[in-house]
Amino acid sequence: MMHFKNTAILFLFGVMAFSCNQQTRSAQTPETESQEPTLFAKGEKITNENFTGTAYLHSMIEADSLNPNSVGNVTFEPGARSKWHLHPAGQILLATGGVGYYQEKDQPKVILRKGDVIKCLPNTPHWHGASADTAFIQVAITGRQKGPTQWLEAVTDEEYRSQ
Ligand code: MN
Repeated sequence: MMHFKNTAILFLFGVMAFSCNQQTRSAQTPETESQEPTLFAKGEKITNENFTGTAYLHSMIEADSLNPNSVGNVTFEPGARSKWHLHPAGQILLATGGVGYYQEKDQPKVILRKGDVIKCLPNTPHWHGASADTAFIQVAITGRQKGPTQWLEAVTDEEYRSQ
């Protein structure tokens, strides 16, 4: 009988805890992307000719002899993208917010969302940027030991819109 009582009390506590949890969840307003705080600073507006539309760069780490990678946070406003380009030592992209695109030459466009990771191999022409409707934020880790990024032609609207 004692055993049954304890079990019943535990069960009741369990039900209470569960319903409290449910209440808290339903009381919250759903988070939208625009309300989420960004992980790293937005930085400065990019003014060079290597991007179409409005993008921002926050340089976080410069490459040096011990670690030949630069790390930068890039924010693309909707529709903004890089030109086609290649990195002689490759690049890693970490998507931290919004919805973006990544495309390698002659490959389909890849949709990127928060948490997605891209490894771009050395000397592989590609571009990255935001989707048409939603901004995109990424951390770019770029190998610098084999020379600077080589910038190619702009991504046309037709290329941007294609699958
Ligand atoms: Mn790149």
